Amino acid sequence: MPVDATLAPALLGLLGLLVGSFLNVVIHRLPRMMERQWARDCADMQSDNGAAEAPVERYNLMVPRSACPHCGHTIRWFENIPVVSYAFLRGRCSACRAPISARYPGVELFTGLLFAWCGWQWGVTVQAFLWCGFAAAIVALAAIDWDTTLLPDDITLPLLWAGLLASALAWTGVPLSDAVWGAVGGYLSLWLVYWAFKLLTGKEGMGYGDFKLFAALGAWFGWQALVPIILMSSVIGAVVGIGIKLIGQLREGGYVPFGPFLALAGLTAMVFGPGAILAVFGL
Ligand SMILES: [Zn+2]
Repeated sequence: MPVDATLAPALLGLLGLLVGSFLNVVIHRLPRMMERQWARDCADMQSDNGAAEAPVERYNLMVPRSACPHCGHTIRWFENIPVVSYAFLRGRCSACRAPISARYPGVELFTGLLFAWCGWQWGVTVQAFLWCGFAAAIVALAAIDWDTTLLPDDITLPLLWAGLLASALAWTGVPLSDAVWGAVGGYLSLWLVYWAFKLLTGKEGMGYGDFKLFAALGAWFGWQALVPIILMSSVIGAVVGIGIKLIGQLREGGYVPFGPFLALAGLTAMVFGPGAILAVFGL
């Protein structure tokens, strides 16, 4: 069923606002869920004699319900409408008036725009939903890496497999061999850089999550996109890194995560195509 050219972006844009609202939960909770899992694993290893386990409260993407981190006020459904509620509440908790981060509506709006773009580009089709899924995963990864310097396997690995599968089904237009070599090349190239850097300086310049994210981008865009993507993320990463250093906001250890810049380059490749990135650099 063909959907009107203006209706598709509107429909997918609305869906994007809702998905963005869910991504806020993922961005906040997934790293905490991972930390809880690591703590449980460590406790399991230490209690070798099977000591009684302390009951753990449930904590996942659905439970408990969202609450204000300052006063514990449970967010009611009409306080949880993407962007609208934030504007209506003027960015403050309705119970204690503590400010709510502008990033919540920011993530919702950005995801909405990306989904609307997919609707404009592909209409209401399998391709549109496929790239909406790509965009959602990338937004979550960028924010989580920026906050915690983690790129969860729970997102990077399904993203990688989805890229290969979509190529095999001829949904991305990337030949399967290009997608496979993109994944292999993406992983190995950063793995080599990582070890060269580590052997030369004794420091770790990035993490294994970066290899997996770059491999996923290689799967989605083919090996030909690896150079444009790494070029763009390195240049923007260096500029932002120097900027953060200049304004003295560098976090402990001086570490600037690389994932958000890979993610940004991935979204740029989705919207403008990998070739357009090279054109910007005059290549
Ligand atoms: Zn509150």
